[in-house]
Amino acid sequence: MIIILKKEAAESQVNGLISLLESKNIQPHVSRGSLQTIVGCVGDVSRLDPGILEALDGVESVQRIQEPFKAANRKFHPEDTVVDCSGVKVGGGSFSVIAGPCSVESEEQIVAIAKSVKASGATMLRGGAFKPRTSPYAFQGLGKAGLDMLLTARRETGLPIVTELMDFKDIELFNDVDVIQIGARNMQNFNLLKEVGSYTKKPILLKRGMSATIQELLMSAEYVMASGNENVMLCERGIRTFETALRNTLDLGVVTLLHRLSHLPVVVDPSHATGHAWMVDSVAVAATAIGADGLIIEVHNDPPHAKCDGAQSQTPDMFAGTMRKIAALRKSLFNA
Ligand code: PEP
Ligand code: MN
Repeated sequence: MIIILKKEAAESQVNGLISLLESKNIQPHVSRGSLQTIVGCVGDVSRLDPGILEALDGVESVQRIQEPFKAANRKFHPEDTVVDCSGVKVGGGSFSVIAGPCSVESEEQIVAIAKSVKASGATMLRGGAFKPRTSPYAFQGLGKAGLDMLLTARRETGLPIVTELMDFKDIELFNDVDVIQIGARNMQNFNLLKEVGSYTKKPILLKRGMSATIQELLMSAEYVMASGNENVMLCERGIRTFETALRNTLDLGVVTLLHRLSHLPVVVDPSHATGHAWMVDSVAVAATAIGADGLIIEVHNDPPHAKCDGAQSQTPDMFAGTMRKIAALRKSLFNA
């Protein structure tokens, strides 16, 4: 971090700044030029608030030269993190497809979908038991009963299960879940992130908030990691923009950016990104080609009657076709 002082900064203001920095265990390196004085900060600046420094009398501006995230930062952890989801690896060249319905509706439904997506090559099963819905009148999920159905589907197929935790009060119900999803709406629920991070080392699938910047997504990952759980997978699921033709605007380039900034695996969700089942195939292929470490795709055996997100749910046949393309693409592009 570099602090640029105002030309007219008084010596007492410079000294006040220096003692403030020293009190925070930062070593200030002052260089006095004929036009400007600048102070370079050496030490752990991640806990310094640039806004507070900028508000000090005598300070012109503050420039960060280091990102505020540490645990998630590739600079301090050059090799890719490989997240182990009960034996299924994601990251560092291991690619995984998580598939299943938006919400668990019945035991027959989730078991049948689990079997069909497994037969097509999915490596994990998704299904919501606690659903964040825009309307309080919409189906809210089956809760604990839904989690039990997911466990049955796992017993029948061996697929690890991924499901969303909305409220920390339910955490004990998730003890047998393999991967905890934190949804877009909770990406900045900092208490939830801290509580989950300190309670469990289970893999966390952290979805990007609807209007979250990449730095905010990484800072949310940082919350989980700083609380003790480094097993975080980032998920790009589209963001809200001026465009209304699609459910969200998929920010696919961030897969490459996130891989540069962070060592954490990046999963893409073509279902919520587009909102249309007929688009999921080509977007899943694009996400694979750009180098995503995994996909999360909604699949339903009867989309017109789905209780949640039917319009964007692939049928098992559509999913099988997408999986064939992805396998061929990964072979030709990545020799995988
Ligand atoms: C979901 O995965 O069904 C979901 C609600 O996703 P998001 O949090 O990305 O909207
Ligand atoms: Mn959904």
